[in-house]
Amino acid sequence: GPRVGVLALQGAFAAHARALHRCGARTSEVRTPAGLQGLDALVLPGGESTTMMLGIAREGLAEPLRAFAASGRPVLATCAGLIVLDRERLGVLDLRCARNAFGRQLHSFEEDLELAGLDGGPLHAVFIRAPWVAEHGPAVEVLATVDGHPVAVRQGAVTGVSFHPELTGDDRLHAALVARAAAGTPG
Ligand code: GLN
Repeated sequence: GPRVGVLALQGAFAAHARALHRCGARTSEVRTPAGLQGLDALVLPGGESTTMMLGIAREGLAEPLRAFAASGRPVLATCAGLIVLDRERLGVLDLRCARNAFGRQLHSFEEDLELAGLDGGPLHAVFIRAPWVAEHGPAVEVLATVDGHPVAVRQGAVTGVSFHPELTGDDRLHAALVARAAAGTPG
């Protein structure tokens, strides 16, 4: 299977690796720029975006992560991972995240979401202190919203979601990433 890295500085990386294995990928934990070499795709997990950004700066990973995304290899970014890619941080995605945005259920909530382009019916989505996309440019395609706020987006080969797809056993987003990685085609 294709080689998929999971950024493992902090956060929910182990559950992502298990989901990727179920989808037939080989996985490795990425903690340094060298860890990105030879990967066909990358997952940026949830966790705490401020801590994750400190680790990225400490390890010199900002530019290598930008270059990885710019290479067109597929990326799946979840929750804090999505925040890390926004304009105010790595600037990979032309969007701005609002952190901890769901005031009505700040800590966590679950919702069945229809995602544009995802076959097989609604995806059960677990939101944990989740962001939403507060603002985005024209290159960003919105795949799903909650209360009118984007919570799943795509820009080129990067898919970003506000929720935690690694926690439910519904591996369709991981399977899509692995399939794109195996095909070697961006998007
Ligand atoms: N609230 C976290 C942050 O702002 C994200 C939460 C998560 O990744 N589940 O970084």
